[in-house]
Amino acid sequence: MHTPAGFLPSHVLPSALSPGTLGFAYRDAKLAVGGTEAAPTLPTHEDLARAGLAGAMHYLGELDATPCVAVALPDATSDAAAAAAGLRFAGLRSLFFTLQEPFLAIAARAYQVTEWERTHRFCGRCGTPTRDKPGERAKECPACGLIAYPRISPAMMVLVTRGREVLLARAHRFPGAMYSALAGFVEPGETIEDCIHREVREEVGIDVTGIRYFASQSWAFPHSLMIAYTAEYAGGDLKPDDTEIADAQWFPLDALPTLPTHVSIARRLIDATVGRLRAAG
Ligand SMILES: [Zn+2]
Repeated sequence: MHTPAGFLPSHVLPSALSPGTLGFAYRDAKLAVGGTEAAPTLPTHEDLARAGLAGAMHYLGELDATPCVAVALPDATSDAAAAAAGLRFAGLRSLFFTLQEPFLAIAARAYQVTEWERTHRFCGRCGTPTRDKPGERAKECPACGLIAYPRISPAMMVLVTRGREVLLARAHRFPGAMYSALAGFVEPGETIEDCIHREVREEVGIDVTGIRYFASQSWAFPHSLMIAYTAEYAGGDLKPDDTEIADAQWFPLDALPTLPTHVSIARRLIDATVGRLRAAG
């Protein structure tokens, strides 16, 4: 996920929402959508209002001049209330291949904002109900002044190469027989490079060198920023850590296992690296 072309982000809610404003309304992790299963559509703000679907609202910006808002619906919002307006609730992952690209990216952004809204209603220091802070996307505590921004958790992903082989691992949590690059969250006090060295050592017991940036991807499950790299093998024997990793192997380019879908940055990282190694002969 990324900022789509034609999208102008903003957090300042206009004094009046223009007709046709798109409403990205979440009940917990599910988005209110219309249309069909194969071709979901987004309701306008008026559609939501007509159905009585209301909640804390945050302005997201304009997509090709169409305003977009995120709405955090109460958990108790019923399916029947949505159905009365021709809407249903769908998980973001289930919309990956059906919701059109710019809307999908904004839906992911809206999810992160509504998730922050739902989980920062009270001050984490003194427990007082928070309020929106004017001028920026932030919650502030009227009693003690604590400010809480939407949480973004940086995580690294690294594809380690050794000659014409790539290191892929299967985590216990992966579906089926899928293998992917190594990944892990940055810990306090670490640079991303520190995190790469530590995670690779912890997860598979080897050392790496030649760390090179590849690309990054916002990943709204629930608030990761995945920053992807390649690195070269520098020493050590593969020793997968049982708690997280079910299996890790060096795969030759012509015998790759089942890989993640093309939606993920993992797949782009693997495809680009395999292509580069093939081209290098
Ligand atoms: Zn407080």
